[in-house]
Amino acid sequence: MRFRYHYPTPDNYEVENPLEASKLISDDLLNDLNKIASENDFLNLSYSKLSDDFKKEWGISWDNVIILKYLMSETVLKMPPSKEKCILEDEEFQEFGVKTFKIADFLRKNNFKADLIHPLDDTISLRAIATQSNDAVITRSNMCLFKEGLNIGFFMIKTSIENLPFKNENSMHWIKGYCSTCGICIDRCPENAFDENEKLKRKICTAHSEGCSICMTICPFFKQGYEKVKKRYDRKCHKK
Ligand code: SF4
Ligand code: SF4
Repeated sequence: MRFRYHYPTPDNYEVENPLEASKLISDDLLNDLNKIASENDFLNLSYSKLSDDFKKEWGISWDNVIILKYLMSETVLKMPPSKEKCILEDEEFQEFGVKTFKIADFLRKNNFKADLIHPLDDTISLRAIATQSNDAVITRSNMCLFKEGLNIGFFMIKTSIENLPFKNENSMHWIKGYCSTCGICIDRCPENAFDENEKLKRKICTAHSEGCSICMTICPFFKQGYEKVKKRYDRKCHKK
C-alpha cells in the first residue's frame, strides 16, 4: 500500500463506511479523535468547511474535511538534495498515510463516513482545502504555512461530520505583506523555478525529483518559527 501519483487511493481500511452515517459528533468523541491522532504521532487537527463556491470551483460535492498535521523531519529537510533524501521523505509520508487509515477506521467504527482524500491527486488542491480551515495561508514560495511551522505535512479525511469546530476567520493574512518585503525564497532558488509572476514552475522545481527544500529551509518561518516572526513584524509595524 503506497500513495502514488496518478494511481487510485490505496484501500487500506479495515472498517467499511456505515450505510447510514451520523452527522453530529459529541465533544467526548471529538476529544477521543484528537487523542487517537496524537497517539499516532500527528501534531494536531484542523477542520475545513468547504464553501459552495469552493465546491463548484473544484467540482466536488463533499464539504467537511479533517486535516491531520504532522511535523516533517527537520533533519531530513536540511539534508542536501539526493535520492536518499527523497526516499526518507517518502517513507515518512507513506507512514503517516497508513496512520491516517487508522483514524478513518476509528470514525467509521463510530458510524461516521470517512474517506481519505488522495494526497497526490491533481484534480483537487489540498493546499486550497487547507486554507479553507482558516489555520493556514499560502506563502510567496507557494508553500502551505500553518502556525505550527512551515515543515508541516498533512493528510485529509472527508467526512459526514457536520459540527466540527470550523473556524470562520484567518489571523494569518498579514503574511502576504511580510512575504512582499522578503522574497529570499525566490532569490535563492537554485533552479529559477519561479516565473516572472512568481508562479512556481512545477516542471522545473526539483522538490520531488531530487528532494530540494531550499526555499523552505531558508524561510524565516522555518528558521525562527511563526510566533517569533510575527512578534518582530508587529514591533516593526508599531514603530512606523
Ligand atoms: S522566504 Fe520570505 S518571501 Fe519566501 S515564503 Fe518565506 S517569508 Fe515569504
Ligand atoms: S524546492 Fe528548490 S527548486 Fe523548488 S522552488 Fe524551492 S528552492 Fe526552487
